[in-house]
Amino acid sequence: MLSAHKISKVFWMRGAKKPLHVFGGVSLTLRAGEMLALVGPSGSGKSTLLRCLAGLEPVTEGQVVLLQTNLSRATRTAIAAMLREDVGLLMVNPPLVPSLTALQNVELPGLLAARSAWSNRELALRVLEELGARDIANKVPGQLTPPQAARVALARVLTQNPKIVFADEPTGRLGIEDSDTVLEQLGNLTRKGCAVVLATHDLHLAARADRVITIIDGAPRATLDHPSAYTILASLERSTKGATAPTPPPTPDAVLPSPAAPPPPAPAVRATPPTPAAAPSPPAPPGSVRDGSAADAAGGAGRGGEVEP
Ligand code: ADP
Ligand code: MG
Repeated sequence: MLSAHKISKVFWMRGAKKPLHVFGGVSLTLRAGEMLALVGPSGSGKSTLLRCLAGLEPVTEGQVVLLQTNLSRATRTAIAAMLREDVGLLMVNPPLVPSLTALQNVELPGLLAARSAWSNRELALRVLEELGARDIANKVPGQLTPPQAARVALARVLTQNPKIVFADEPTGRLGIEDSDTVLEQLGNLTRKGCAVVLATHDLHLAARADRVITIIDGAPRATLDHPSAYTILASLERSTKGATAPTPPPTPDAVLPSPAAPPPPAPAVRATPPTPAAAPSPPAPPGSVRDGSAADAAGGAGRGGEVEP
């Protein structure tokens, strides 16, 4: 479904003396039906990484293969066709077409896939109904609240029947009930074989993933298999401590587990060697696997014990 090999991203800002290293040394593999969460403090590069994995932005170094297409070698047209047909995108501010109604927005993937107008409408209405959004079908995006817009965006992804979904903070502007709907639907998608990649601060959401990669200052720090929210939080805190000792600030932006959450089970953690400090990561030199690459993580072999400092 998705693999990345030692990818990095550098932005060259106009007028800046130094390039901005957003992330580096990331390798991962995701199979059909798996859910991967990218978790880390704000500004650590999650959204940029997600966009690079989804083919929305080029990587600076390394290679991403999405649905058997090498994104570095594919034409823009080929990437656009893949995004349209097989890749679902859920963003915190969903990119709905402002001049179309909610229903028409949900119908878009079917229209682009040349599905018959009648069956396309029937499907769009059914999915909106399932999401409790049938009553907003004729509203335009400007009339929708953020949770309503999120339901429309989710409905659009569901009618698209994608092979992989990239979701950036999909519950970022939602309350508990709407977040639960998103969680449930993403879970349903994985059960149908769709792969899901999430970038999120929400540790409860991340705890639904099969695998969590923690990212601090653009460097992958640990790969956690089926972790609880507590395990993710503890891992983030250890990584932050490693970067800022002796008295680290609380993990920024982390959504703390609720008091009702169960105590942490024995962590299934394959930790990565600590990377030095908070400096943005330089691109990995050829042949090296920086920070244990969360990642060779990939396919998920060799889970072991906690190793972080
Ligand atoms: P996160 O999603 O973890 O909060 P982001 O990926 O949004 O992190 O941002 C990581 C860093 O990359 C930030 O310093 C941000 O300002 C920078 N960045 C993101 N996109 C761009 C861009 N298009 N141009 C320049 N810098 C960017
Ligand atoms: Mg982000």
